[in-house]
Amino acid sequence: MENVIILGTGCAGFTAGIYTARANLEPLILEGDLPGGQLTTTSEVENFPGFPEGIDGFMLMDNLRKQAARFGSRFESALIDRVDFSEERKILYAGEKSFEARTVIIATGAGPRLLGIPGEKEMYGGKGVTTCATCDGAFYRDMDVVVVGGGDSACEESLFLTRFCSKVTLVHRRDELRASRIMAERTLAHEKIEVIWDSAVEEVLADEDGKAKAITIRNLKNQETSRVSCKGVFIAIGHVPNTKPFEGVLELDDNGYLVPEQNSMVRSSVPGVYVAGDCADHAYRQAITAAGMGCQAAIEAERWLAEKE
Ligand code: NAP
Repeated sequence: MENVIILGTGCAGFTAGIYTARANLEPLILEGDLPGGQLTTTSEVENFPGFPEGIDGFMLMDNLRKQAARFGSRFESALIDRVDFSEERKILYAGEKSFEARTVIIATGAGPRLLGIPGEKEMYGGKGVTTCATCDGAFYRDMDVVVVGGGDSACEESLFLTRFCSKVTLVHRRDELRASRIMAERTLAHEKIEVIWDSAVEEVLADEDGKAKAITIRNLKNQETSRVSCKGVFIAIGHVPNTKPFEGVLELDDNGYLVPEQNSMVRSSVPGVYVAGDCADHAYRQAITAAGMGCQAAIEAERWLAEKE
């Protein structure tokens, strides 16, 4: 039986690996279908402390992996689809295969919800379509961009982008924002933001270099289509946490995020099971906050194991 199994190899998972490995717990880190997590799909990370010139997302994750491995973390590919946390010995299943552990750190991350329209995948990550203004906004200085969505994220992204971009067009499928009142009011009052209501984005159009140059939209009330020129398309229609295997086992909120115990960022309702990173955080979703939660979860796991001895 393992001391610690860590699910996920994003910032949270690797940081938990570094800490539990340095505590001589020889953690086993299980890698899902996106090794290195969301950051491996980002070109440059400029906001992770310690890298004044920024760092390539893939390189950052490779460094974290090496750091976790250096202290004795072990890695295995396995997509966990079912868990049994009913006994002190926790069992995790990946199809026919099973793993057993005394403690589990769940750091399975979340994926941005996408529109599923032509051009979106082709231009995603570096060619004009992105899901993170905090990460990529500065690359669109003095350019026109589009934000898709009507929630707090879309408003927050739009407001953030006004710092760099000449114009931000917010495209929303209804005639009213879902965002909190204060965010909506700020967004609607901003002189650089124009809102196009009742409209669905149907396609992202590419220029001759394969980079975004415009979107086509359809007005859902009168079915008219039109085109909006833009160099960047920021999709902010929510995130989908990777928490399916824990449904019915751990507490999830209405959006599927794992809910930690009160007075804790990382303790789940099952003793010895901890949550870290984007699968349990809909508010911040930053690499550094995920790393922080990974560290907290590792320290909690270490203390829990020490108490049991
Ligand atoms: P959200 O509240 O679920 O909003 C998603 C938005 O995207 C909605 O306006 C929705 O339209 C739209 N949408 C969903 N699927 C779509 C599709 N296929 N095509 C077009 N539009 C689509 O997600 P969120 O904005 O990421 O926020 C998630 C949670 O985090 C919320 O609880 C939010 O309050 C919180 N949050 C808070 C802050 C803050 O307080 N600073 C910042 C960010 C997020 P409809 O409105 O028509 O459903």
